[in-house]
Amino acid sequence: MGKLFGTDGVRGVANIDLTCRLAWSIGKAAAQVLAAVGESGRKPRVIIGKDTRISGDMLENALAAGFNSVGADVELIGVVPTPAVAYLVKEMDADAGAMISASHNPYEYNGIKLFNREGYKLADEVEEKIEALIRGEAEEAALSADRIGRTRRNRDAVEKYIEHITGTVDGDLSGIRLAVDCANGSASVTAGEIFRRLGADVIIMGADPDGFNINDKCGSTHLGALSDKVKELKLDAGLAFDGDADRFLAVDENGETIDGDKLIAVFAAELKKKGRLPGNTAVVTSMTNMGFYDFAEKNGIRVSVTGVGDRYVLEEMLNHGYGIGGEQSGHIIFREYATTGDGQLSAVQFVSALISSGKKASEFAAVMEKYPQIMLNIRADAGQKAAFAGSAAVAAAVADAEKRLGSSGRIVVRPSGTEPLIRVMLEGRDRGFISEIGEEICDIICSETGASR
Ligand code: MG
Repeated sequence: MGKLFGTDGVRGVANIDLTCRLAWSIGKAAAQVLAAVGESGRKPRVIIGKDTRISGDMLENALAAGFNSVGADVELIGVVPTPAVAYLVKEMDADAGAMISASHNPYEYNGIKLFNREGYKLADEVEEKIEALIRGEAEEAALSADRIGRTRRNRDAVEKYIEHITGTVDGDLSGIRLAVDCANGSASVTAGEIFRRLGADVIIMGADPDGFNINDKCGSTHLGALSDKVKELKLDAGLAFDGDADRFLAVDENGETIDGDKLIAVFAAELKKKGRLPGNTAVVTSMTNMGFYDFAEKNGIRVSVTGVGDRYVLEEMLNHGYGIGGEQSGHIIFREYATTGDGQLSAVQFVSALISSGKKASEFAAVMEKYPQIMLNIRADAGQKAAFAGSAAVAAAVADAEKRLGSSGRIVVRPSGTEPLIRVMLEGRDRGFISEIGEEICDIICSETGASR
């Protein structure tokens, strides 16, 4: 068995990689590490949320059984966004939270993400402790029947989250016409209510989940339908979330994408204007478009750069007290209101700022100009990823590409933490030049590792 926890919790194909047995083991182990099972005189409480995948019910039951078996009580809060679990674990005074979701991935995948009682994703060493317990199942403690936990459904919790999100907006969102794509995922249960309550004129799309259609040609990873709808109906903007609604991307009135980098620029500029940009700094990752640095320089904002992954962005924000940070994918953290990326929080903040700017969405997002960027994917299993990491020829080719790009471009090559892919990202002022270099690098990686495009 390889390492269970990837960059964003446990993830795999439901019923094959992520089985009921594994979910049950995670529940048991997590209860012992996060919820202080065994402390005398108190029964720990855990909340469990899920997205709309068909495997959600099955894994929810298995995970809850794991928690119950070691004496923890469980509240099933049903289909909710991932950031709702992060928010509600603290709000409901629970000992831990779990979210069953594979985010932006197709329906056959699923995952389990854990949150501590403060609503934060777990530190590496805490995940390691849980993993060690899962592997050492022999030591499982059998509880007497009187100490077994109970599970109950709580359908009211989601309302608290909706109130939280609407409460972050000053005034309302009236006078704007929007399309909102819920990816047939978690936002299906919240986004319509949030935007209608705030007074926006909204057309809701992708809010008809059937267990199979999550992220299928909809949501923040497929903006085509949203873009068409905005143009067709001449709307002011379109908003899209991923399957578990921790990510948010927008399209402007012309249907053009406003990605996470541009959104972070918009938010940083907005917070600075209001005197609410702590440390005068925005946190981004090494994959962030180089245009962001030009934006930051022009606007007198400092940039702090971390490795790829929202956990590193958050860590940097917590270490220095910074207020805004995120990734190009639209995973954006507003520290003032949240402990993790929250798509709908970002979306209402974006729309609120857009309305008060009085500008068209395209003009509003023009605060940052992107450099052309290409992203190439190579399909690679674990062995091919290892061959990639150990290849001197690949390292030499990347170093050579860096030299050729000089200061007007860059290349980042890395294995994906969540998918069987090696990703090659290039950026530079000349699209033709970066495409040529990208193809060369991909050929070298494939011939060195036996992977294929
Ligand atoms: Mg997600």
